[in-house]
Amino acid sequence: MKDFKGKLFVFSAPSGSGKTTIVRHLLQQERFNLAFSISATSREPRGFEKDGEDYYFISLRDFKNKIKEDAFLEWEEVYRDNFYGTLKTEVERIWSQKKHVIFDIDVVGGLRIKKKFPENTLSVFVKPPSVDELKIRLKKRSTESEDKINMRIAKASVELATAPQFDKIIKNYDLEVALKEAEALMSDYLGFNK
Ligand code: 5GP
Repeated sequence: MKDFKGKLFVFSAPSGSGKTTIVRHLLQQERFNLAFSISATSREPRGFEKDGEDYYFISLRDFKNKIKEDAFLEWEEVYRDNFYGTLKTEVERIWSQKKHVIFDIDVVGGLRIKKKFPENTLSVFVKPPSVDELKIRLKKRSTESEDKINMRIAKASVELATAPQFDKIIKNYDLEVALKEAEALMSDYLGFNK
């Protein structure tokens, strides 16, 4: 581990595509030596979410101050008044633990990370079967109001168009297959198959 060179794995997709499930699965695989990049957000925590685990939940005001301080590697107003961003300190924290960073972020943020670290980032787009299927998944999850679900669906079509800009695309039609595919991509990038 002396010559540890931290890598970044970006998983981006429209909300409801299953990317969070894939990222969680990969985090459990010790051989990949990953740590989750905890984003900061101005949105309210959902039911089981924990501050400092799922997100750093901060106020809109604090978020805007951090933008001014140039504390973010990337940030985005993903939905109106819901800001999300990766703090520069987050990547430093994880690399100092000699781990690779894995991100669960929106497509714009994902592409920005790739641009900032082109040499050591693998960007992966997780594709849902269809926009209709996304709607069903988001409704099943029932963590958001009808309005918010519609907002997410409207954004999904725009996001789907960015898929070709990513290094790899995983089709999440069947979760088991998608998980295996994600593992294979990771192994490849980390040079396990050489
Ligand atoms: P949710 O509210 O469902 O947790 O997340 C909404 C969207 O924001 C998801 O697509 C999620 O991946 C994205 N997101 C989470 N953290 C970040 C971040 O740090 N930066 C950006 N650009 N998007 C993020």
